[in-house]
Amino acid sequence: MAEDIRIGVFVCDCGSNIAGYLDCPSLAEYSETLPNVVFVKENLYTCSETGINEIKNAIKEEKLNRVVVASCSPRTHEPLFRESCGEAGLNPYLFEMVNIRDQCSWVHMQEREEGTNKARDLIRMGVAKAALLQPQEPIQSEVDPKALVIGGGISGMTSAMALANRGYQVFLVEKSSEMGGLLRNLHKLAPANVDAQELLAKQVEAVSNHENISLLTSTTINEIQGYIGHYEVTVSTNGVAQDFGVGVIIIATGAKVFRPEGLFNYDGKRVITQFDLEAFFRNKKFKADNVVMIQCVGARNEERKYCSRICCMIAIKNAIVIKEQNPETSVHILYRDIQAYGTENEALFQHSKQLGVRYIKYDQERPPEVQENAVKVYHHLLGRELEIPQDLVVLSTPLIAGEDNEALSKLLRVTLDANKFFLEGHVKLKPLDFATDGVYLCGNAHYPATLREAISQALGAASRASIPLAKGVMTVEPIVSVLADEDACRGCGLCVALCPYSALEIVQTEKGRKVRVIPVACKGCGVCASTCYQHALDINVYTDDQVEEQIRAFLTGS
Ligand code: SF4
Ligand code: SF4
Repeated sequence: MAEDIRIGVFVCDCGSNIAGYLDCPSLAEYSETLPNVVFVKENLYTCSETGINEIKNAIKEEKLNRVVVASCSPRTHEPLFRESCGEAGLNPYLFEMVNIRDQCSWVHMQEREEGTNKARDLIRMGVAKAALLQPQEPIQSEVDPKALVIGGGISGMTSAMALANRGYQVFLVEKSSEMGGLLRNLHKLAPANVDAQELLAKQVEAVSNHENISLLTSTTINEIQGYIGHYEVTVSTNGVAQDFGVGVIIIATGAKVFRPEGLFNYDGKRVITQFDLEAFFRNKKFKADNVVMIQCVGARNEERKYCSRICCMIAIKNAIVIKEQNPETSVHILYRDIQAYGTENEALFQHSKQLGVRYIKYDQERPPEVQENAVKVYHHLLGRELEIPQDLVVLSTPLIAGEDNEALSKLLRVTLDANKFFLEGHVKLKPLDFATDGVYLCGNAHYPATLREAISQALGAASRASIPLAKGVMTVEPIVSVLADEDACRGCGLCVALCPYSALEIVQTEKGRKVRVIPVACKGCGVCASTCYQHALDINVYTDDQVEEQIRAFLTGS
């Protein structure tokens, strides 16, 4: 027997946000005339306790089996309304939201009649779609309580330790034969003046001896298949392959130091990088009376537009080390802008000045010129060129993205930014996550970071990764792709190739090659359904039928 559809429509005034610009009483009156609508209510604020209770009571008393709320943005309020439907005993996915605030009252503030007419159209379309909604159940999938951390620098080691200390087994993969990444090159760490090699040694020892960490050095990632909770990883250690499964993955692959070949007479001896200088300090080979540092070498230019953020502080820190070793050594820093963000960095900057470090601003258009025993620089305040004596020139060069980033981003289907660093899911809301669930990032893999930032990010990524591991079961919103017409599917794999989240696979069935949806990995983005030329796939709450019905309601006005 066909279901008796009973739709309740709630028109929200949003205070004066909607009612100040649209004729809400007439929208409520109009809603009563729409097919299957048995109950209508205009609320001052539908999302208030009173409004929510009115929805819940109407579901029970009027036996509503579909709810439409005409109000604000589903992005902010849909979860609340769905939950309220659920609390009143209605499947939360028998709910439809119509945005008459952002799409009508806000954009048509000066056009009350036209805005109200548009809201009428949208409500009619929402009601038409609601009649075809089907109940959906949350999708659950078990999580393999193990983690893969890619990269054995300070970020990777910190993440691995944090997860291992919580009792999860961690595979820590490092492609080189030694742990430590860029930290291996450093001398002292600002602002606390910590010995980098002591810190590194302690961390390597802790990681190496932790019973929950499988340390895989000289190891490359060959393949990663799967989705949150179930990743199948194949790695190769000195040519020997091994497979293991994990539930989550942290990318901590770090970055590389830009080598300024061909710039400012760089030769690695008299003209060196800040990283070379750190090695001189470590090996006690530093010897110079007149040091000139040049900032932004190979950065903030046409080829590399970004600021590497940490080079100014490295230069300031190293200038202080030189001055503290020998106050007579002259140190000049030629800069374009100084990035000394935060109170501690600003204090170090001021301290360096007190120690006698001289700062000269140069113009990108008139860069310094490195000569045999001097550096020529145009001082734009004095309006003339200066010749600064030098017996050591130190170039501050940026960190650049690792060469494996592209391959890894393809393996995991995660995005890179324009500079080939890994790109977070959202700069504010998901700074340590990717859009793909179950994959997290930290440290220089994301963007040049100080040691403190890298450690904070690593702990944050480990916390994020711990959430699915601790839950043991992933619950995903059931707005996903479904194979609506199996017979129509030709198993061509077009949708599989285009799915940004690896949520589809081709499987062999009794009817031949067919696509299979992995619901827990699917984000319901709709790429597959709109691509399939056979119309075999549908998004379950935006089916072709529902969308067609919305369009029909719009065109026919009924
Ligand atoms: Fe090809 Fe469509 Fe089947 Fe995907 S669902 S394999 S695009 S026929
Ligand atoms: Fe992939 Fe389709 Fe799901 Fe989008 S809707 S994530 S393309 S399966």
